[in-house]
Amino acid sequence: MSLCKRRGFIFQSAEIYGGFRSTYDYGPLGVNMLRNVKDAWWRSMVQLRDDVVGLDAAILSPPGVWAASGHLANFTDPLVDCRSCRSRFRADKLDGPCPNCGGTDFTEARDFNLMFKTHAGPVEDEGAVAYLRPETAQGMFVNFANVLQTTRKRPPFGIAQVGKSFRNEITPQNFVFRTREFEQMEMEYFVPPAESATWHRYWIDERYRWYLELGMPGDRLRIRPHGPEELSHYSSATSDVEFLFPWGWDELEGIANRTDYDLLQHAAASGERLEYFDQATGERYVPHAIEPAAGATRTMMAFLLAAYAEDEVGGEARTVLRLHPRLAPYQAAVLPLSKKETLEPMAREVLGLLQPHFMCDYDTTQSIGRRYRRHDEIGTPWCVTVDFDSLEDRAVTVRDRDSTEQVRVPLDALVGELRARGGLA
Ligand code: ATP
Repeated sequence: MSLCKRRGFIFQSAEIYGGFRSTYDYGPLGVNMLRNVKDAWWRSMVQLRDDVVGLDAAILSPPGVWAASGHLANFTDPLVDCRSCRSRFRADKLDGPCPNCGGTDFTEARDFNLMFKTHAGPVEDEGAVAYLRPETAQGMFVNFANVLQTTRKRPPFGIAQVGKSFRNEITPQNFVFRTREFEQMEMEYFVPPAESATWHRYWIDERYRWYLELGMPGDRLRIRPHGPEELSHYSSATSDVEFLFPWGWDELEGIANRTDYDLLQHAAASGERLEYFDQATGERYVPHAIEPAAGATRTMMAFLLAAYAEDEVGGEARTVLRLHPRLAPYQAAVLPLSKKETLEPMAREVLGLLQPHFMCDYDTTQSIGRRYRRHDEIGTPWCVTVDFDSLEDRAVTVRDRDSTEQVRVPLDALVGELRARGGLA
């Protein structure tokens, strides 16, 4: 957390006003990394597939959507109050006495709806009530027929969306792990009902692999199937991808079999037909939805935790973020060896060469050793140094963050070399 603040990954929101609890702003490094997490997801879920299309639906939505989806009635957490200090807690996450005062006398649990309610338009009456979405998923169900008609996809096919969701969490905690405003990466994969168990298994495996491919260590990841008492109101089976956080195993993503629940609910409430008609067989059916639902902000935090390391280089302690090059805020730092003006034109040329391909930093302050350390600490995989020899041989030194090895690379091979090293083809 301190590195995040000190280096500009994540700031407390409205900090100069004393901060606004449980909201965070992503700084110059954090915004790059968060985009990279979302882009890596989009690349794997949409770009590299021909059976998934994207969507960006509205955040504000009318009560009808949430009545049909069951969220108005069911999207609640059990709330208890400590009778001594009046602090409020989520009963299902409270294990033992009051964490605030040590009291043991709590009120009966009551259902607390997590949706943020607001009014659209100038009149604050019942007819103007709107909700901020607590999940992106309903956008996919509500647009099911639109997407089917415009893309001519047929099951199995998916609709993917990345965007903000809002939940009035009773106890937001653990930095950006649980906040009231956060970003999700969700996909609804619509399948013939008989194939739903097979596709559920498929997506659990696929999603697990995604984290490993981006450098998450296998011993800090696991799959945990939900017990029957844990299942959401729409789910027939759910498995979570869990990460070993400093406080123990906790959820990164839930992969749920939502069956035909949502399409049936929206069809009944809207009067529209939400089904698939197979012209070849004459068959008409309501597809089942398999949903991998991940948190972008929470996942970014897990990648940061997994990457954080302290080691020793040349007898000196260093902090290093061993982030996958696809996730690091900067892929490359261009560093003129000295501040001497003679190096600047070439250093700028190298920067111009790399910028169209990679997110780059250009850093001229302090000694080269200090600059290497600074970039180790924010996870920059490659430092590219321009020195006086560069002016003669048109080559630069590429220093690797993890091994600290340095090799000389000719300018015209530089982009290809970095791409190959990072698997960023
Ligand atoms: P929990 O039980 O922890 O409240 P959930 O099981 O209700 O979470 P889902 O509805 O499955 O969560 O949401 C999918 C994903 O969205 C979660 O796995 C998580 O990564 C992310 N997410 C959910 N709530 C929050 C939050 N308050 N802050 C940050 N990310 C969240």
